[in-house]
Amino acid sequence: MINKSCSFLIILSAPSGGGKSTILNEILQVSDNIDYSVSFTTRNPRGEEKNGIHYHFVDDAEFLARTESGDFLEHARVFGKWYGTSISYIKSRLAAGKHVIMDIDVQGASLISATDIPYVKVFIIPPSMDVLKERLVLRATDSDAEIAKRLNTAKSELAYIPNYDYLVVNDDLSQAVSDVQAIIRAEENRVQRYIKPVEGFLTQEK
Ligand code: 5GP
Repeated sequence: MINKSCSFLIILSAPSGGGKSTILNEILQVSDNIDYSVSFTTRNPRGEEKNGIHYHFVDDAEFLARTESGDFLEHARVFGKWYGTSISYIKSRLAAGKHVIMDIDVQGASLISATDIPYVKVFIIPPSMDVLKERLVLRATDSDAEIAKRLNTAKSELAYIPNYDYLVVNDDLSQAVSDVQAIIRAEENRVQRYIKPVEGFLTQEK
């Protein structure tokens, strides 16, 4: 029997306010084979955010110590703060047969491509810059200056789209969620992920 047990990273990137956290939460709610990688950051919690659930909120000294001891699979400076992904968490979940979904910026996503961990990279865009601005304003968690900075960054992030495997337009939320689920399903069935089990199947004695 072919055992398709290969797990991989599901990397979601989007401009801030692009709706990726909402998509991600919807996917986590309906998938028991996907775990979320909680990032470390030196930024302050926003609104209802909780330590250990939305982020591990740490200070610069702790972030630096973790960087120096090789705790991060990737880390990057975004909007003047540090963000990083725990390598031990990811490896343990993948080893347990789970996919790991993560929300990281375009720089971090490029760094992960250079590792030998299997992944699929999905870029999520809002239908227009106007919608993005509206979402950031409605979120009401950032100052006007912060919103302006995030919109500016969004423009430069779009240049990274060709480095991704898939592009999802988040116009209608349920459609965007189902698109990401379809991508995960397709990736689970990608031949390259199962070369070894298939070889075993072909060489099996009767
Ligand atoms: P926010 O402050 O809005 O939660 O996130 C700001 C940006 O940091 C987003 O683009 C988000 O994807 C990115 N980000 C969150 N966690 C990580 C991480 O662990 N690594 C990297 N490189 N970026 C991250």
